[in-house]
Amino acid sequence: MADKPINILETRELSRHYGGVIALSKVTMQIHPGQISSLIGPNGAGKTTLFNCVTGLDTPTLGNVNFLGKPITGLRPDEVTQLGVARTFQNIRLFSELTVLDNVKIGRHARTHSNFISAVFHTRKQQKEEAEITEYAEEMLNFVGLADVSGQTAGNLSYGDQRRVEIARALATKPLLILLDEPAAGMNPLETQELISLIYTIRDQGISVLLIEHDMKLVMQISDWVTVLDHGEKISDGQPDDVQNDERVIAAYLGTPDDA
Ligand code: ATP
Repeated sequence: MADKPINILETRELSRHYGGVIALSKVTMQIHPGQISSLIGPNGAGKTTLFNCVTGLDTPTLGNVNFLGKPITGLRPDEVTQLGVARTFQNIRLFSELTVLDNVKIGRHARTHSNFISAVFHTRKQQKEEAEITEYAEEMLNFVGLADVSGQTAGNLSYGDQRRVEIARALATKPLLILLDEPAAGMNPLETQELISLIYTIRDQGISVLLIEHDMKLVMQISDWVTVLDHGEKISDGQPDDVQNDERVIAAYLGTPDDA
């Protein structure tokens, strides 16, 4: 019998309590390699908390996170990045005074020995590494379609372009899995279409994608797999058509008479 393919990411009974608030409750979910997956759910369902627990920004109260079959629960964010998990944030986190290129180079520095301070010493090895970092960051900017604004100050870009810079920075860490937290938020329809193309291109590079997104049309269009949270619990998962027709999902989004 053929071996079952390893999930790129899985959580087992993942829980996060903040005092009396149960943000996540025993969430077991799987992300399959090479796919575009989405994590959806109404406001406050626990989506960002799950991203934070996976990427080391938060520590689960109970449960485990495995990446490529190995436990990563409790690792620091930089350790998770080193293993090949990158993310973007719901609220854009760019250094608005720095150039677009420098913002992306920061992502690449997260995966190399060099950093901005060591680069000050300008050893030959560091110069070489710095040149490689610049070249790779430029490549990533080209990949997301922003090569021509690499010298501009990041804060001057449109909202949609700033989100692309964040994606380029995450890609600069050479991830195997990229987590995108509401990448289409605040985008106009044209920017959203461009984002969809970009996500497909990322997937076609062999990078698995997990997104949190409120734009249901986008989610249902591009996802291979959808996981639904509500009040911290997983209430459904499966292919988009199945999830869309799941009564628990419909009730969670529309509200039940009891919620009124
Ligand atoms: P949204 O779609 O609105 O971004 P979400 O699904 O990402 O929501 P979370 O931000 O993960 O939801 O929040 C889940 C629950 O946990 C909410 O009730 C939220 O208020 C609570 N919560 C999140 N972080 C904290 C914290 N640091 N302290 C206390 N409660 C928190």
